[in-house]
Amino acid sequence: MQIRLLLLLLFPVYSLMALPFSDPYPKNPNIDALNYRFSIKVSDTTDEISCEETVDIRYLAAGETSLRLDLIKASAKLENKGMVVSKVISEGKTLAFTHENDVLTIELPAPAVKNQRSSYIIHYKGIPATGLKIANNKYGDRTFFSDNWPNKGRNWLATIDHPYDKATCEFIVTAPDHYQVVSNGLKVEETNLPNSERRTHWKQSVPIATWLYVLGVAEFAVQYVGEFDGKSIETWVYPQDRDAGFYDFAIPTKSALAFYSDRIGPFSYEKLANIQSNSVSGGMEAASAILYSENSVVGDRNERWRNVVIHEVAHQWFGNAVTEYDWDDVWLSEGFATYFTLLFIEHQYGRDAFVEGLKKSKKTVDDFYIKNPDYRIVHDNLSDMSKVVSIQTYQKGSWILHMLRGIVGTDVFWKGITSYYKKYKDINATTDDFRSVMEEVSGLDLKPFFQQWLYQPGTLKYKGTWQFDKKKQEVVIALDQVQKDSSFFEMPLEVAVYGKENEFIKTIQLDKKSNTIRFPVDFIPEKLVLDPNFLVLMEADFKKG
Ligand SMILES: [Zn+2]
Repeated sequence: MQIRLLLLLLFPVYSLMALPFSDPYPKNPNIDALNYRFSIKVSDTTDEISCEETVDIRYLAAGETSLRLDLIKASAKLENKGMVVSKVISEGKTLAFTHENDVLTIELPAPAVKNQRSSYIIHYKGIPATGLKIANNKYGDRTFFSDNWPNKGRNWLATIDHPYDKATCEFIVTAPDHYQVVSNGLKVEETNLPNSERRTHWKQSVPIATWLYVLGVAEFAVQYVGEFDGKSIETWVYPQDRDAGFYDFAIPTKSALAFYSDRIGPFSYEKLANIQSNSVSGGMEAASAILYSENSVVGDRNERWRNVVIHEVAHQWFGNAVTEYDWDDVWLSEGFATYFTLLFIEHQYGRDAFVEGLKKSKKTVDDFYIKNPDYRIVHDNLSDMSKVVSIQTYQKGSWILHMLRGIVGTDVFWKGITSYYKKYKDINATTDDFRSVMEEVSGLDLKPFFQQWLYQPGTLKYKGTWQFDKKKQEVVIALDQVQKDSSFFEMPLEVAVYGKENEFIKTIQLDKKSNTIRFPVDFIPEKLVLDPNFLVLMEADFKKG
């Protein structure tokens, strides 16, 4: 749903920091998709799927004469894969449509009036070129698994395939009855049909972005692991991996759900299933039904896959419930999920594991920077959607949240996070929205921080010395920013001062390229350490002068 768009129309706001609409997707503020119901038939004899889709639309303004949906059209270029639309019906009437350049345009029978609600039934079929992977899994068993990220859902589902328009969804799948079917939300029907087929109906009552629509059709071993807040936690794995999968996925989903619910706000969805699949190589955070690589299940609860589970659970809050309004703000999803994974690790496994995670992350950021010095976190290179995220979106995005926590303080940080979640849960948010909330709770002007770290490339390197001015009993610090790129960062920085028996931490504010800072000390300092609590993403060459 696009409540956010409605707000923008009522109260236009223009960012000083970045063009608000650099994402080129043709958004239509007059049209709001409310629900998609996909009735899909799959079979063992062909990879062709047939779909009868009902889309419910609300018109937010009068005058629309057509409805635009994304759907990849069958073509020779795709070796005849893609979808062919046969008819579109609304209120019993057949409607004219065009299907060109992978856009399905439905001609409305009459110009829409404001607040009109209409349903359209679209019939199409074809072999998905991608987006729904129909293939044997690693055990040679035939499976069907979705792979919609970021905009591949349009290969098999006619939708407004962009995160700005969130909608509820239903999957009603008819499949040979040796398969089980899993999707978003709650299973509301399972009926055996003639001809050894079964109909399974899943219904998701909370609006989500299209990349989060999920479908798995396979033979599964299914375990009801437990409950959180009255919602079931489930494991769906290949029958061959039953023991290993039930063991691996038994933790830490419940404690992660509890931690995030407690610290951020209520879990938005109706269940949480962890699903083994062959359509993704890592994890895919699909709302309420997370897909993991089929190789993730090994039966040893290793740390690597444990952290993927935590990351995908964290996404249920950030990415899924609070969704970036534009693709250029994708760090609101990946940077957040990465940092909130670390926050759960800090909570569950302790400070050392947390700092270890930050250090690993820093190394990734530094390595990426060397090869890509001009990379910005909020970016507009969206012409190739395979580049919508990079490892930097995850790791530097996470570090930016960590630095923000350092600047505003841990308590204020959490206060900001809870109020941001409360305000934007189940709708969309931008980087500016997040900044405004954090400014409100902290009382700080965070524009320079956001501008320098998110909208500009660069890295932070300090070089300097310290001395003890005996006469004045002061520490004197000379510290310059020496990175070779044109970036500049105004940052507070903690300095730990150690004497023989005393020590304290002082926060200094570094607002210039070259800084000289003095502060009193009532013992003889022997050692000074910059950033003792590991709060700033930086390199420092700092010694006694
Ligand atoms: Zn992620």
